[in-house]
Amino acid sequence: MKITTQAVQIGLEWDTRTGSVSVPIYQTATFRHPGLGQSTGFDYTRSGNPTRQTLEDGIARLDGGVRGFAYSTGMAAITGLLMLFNAGDHFVVTEDLYGGTCRLFDKVFNQFGLTFTYVDTTDLAAVEAAIRPETRALFVETLTNPLLKFADLPALAGLAKSRGLLLIADNTFLTPYLLRPLDQGADITVYSATKYLAGHNDTLGGLVVAKDPALAERIYFYQNSVGAVLAPQDSWLIIRGMKTLGVRLDRHQENALKIATWLNSHPRITTVHYPGLEEHPDHELMKQQSGGFGAMIAFEVDNHALVEQVLLKTELISFAESLGGVETLMTFPEVQTHADIPPELRARLGINNVLLRLSVGIEDADDLIEDLRQALEG
Ligand SMILES: *Cc1c(COP(=O)(O)O)cnc(C)c1O
Repeated sequence: MKITTQAVQIGLEWDTRTGSVSVPIYQTATFRHPGLGQSTGFDYTRSGNPTRQTLEDGIARLDGGVRGFAYSTGMAAITGLLMLFNAGDHFVVTEDLYGGTCRLFDKVFNQFGLTFTYVDTTDLAAVEAAIRPETRALFVETLTNPLLKFADLPALAGLAKSRGLLLIADNTFLTPYLLRPLDQGADITVYSATKYLAGHNDTLGGLVVAKDPALAERIYFYQNSVGAVLAPQDSWLIIRGMKTLGVRLDRHQENALKIATWLNSHPRITTVHYPGLEEHPDHELMKQQSGGFGAMIAFEVDNHALVEQVLLKTELISFAESLGGVETLMTFPEVQTHADIPPELRARLGINNVLLRLSVGIEDADDLIEDLRQALEG
């Protein structure tokens, strides 16, 4: 069955008593025991809740894994995964990383003895060179932010396997609709469901999927022990968002290609980073391995003064953080989303004072282009 169909089907089978098409929101903290030492399968909502489980089963199916886990945010999901490791363990990580993940690694988990080396994970030799005897995992973003570099997962998985490392893929920007990392050799996928999976800029959530049952058991132990689980209402919102994942992403991508092409020909724009453009360095690889190029665009304007003008003059496009929702959002990574990346690394990555990032929504592309035109030329 295709992902689009599977996504629409999530939760349909849940309520056999009434036949409710939409999964009920089980807004309860606890569940009555049918007898001494007996359980309905649900005892307490931190340990398991039917609405959350519907979401967890749904993402596991979409990703082709054995089990899914839902957390209160994407950061809580990544935190849950780091619980699998011990003081002294080392990670090789994508350098062009989401700023919040970088902060969690360097400013929180460093305190507990985990260490992280940042490399360009599109460069296999660089990844291999960074592996140490105490390395336990590779943590990669399948499509990076803001410069949209694409990771060669089959190659990274081969390397991880040969060195006995776990491969963890943050697949937030592509979602299982465009890429299924577990099929390509990753052990674990993680998502900020806040973004494309929920898709409406109205709730937060984090999801994890594991491929191996023993690993899934360990992840469950920490999910339940730490307790940063997703509440029933938010689980329902994410299920509802996921039902339209396919149609939304088709439209997001169609718009993104039109806008990237238009930006590319505008005299005030010096560089456009969008993997759907043929000149993007990862265009060919992505064409082979991914079902699409996503809908995030980064672009550089010809001088810094234009940054503020564009951010403040756009009317349809909101100057706001986050991404992956139906509304088009624009941000200035150097000061907003990537402020927690050390300045030297930012400079090396090309996150500079003329770079803007666009999360292309599902509005009419011509309206979005007109909005950008009047802001750039106004
Ligand atoms: C937003 C984001 C996160 C963090 O998710 P939250 O839901 O905001 O906690 C992690 N990884 C990537 C790639 C993101 O874009």
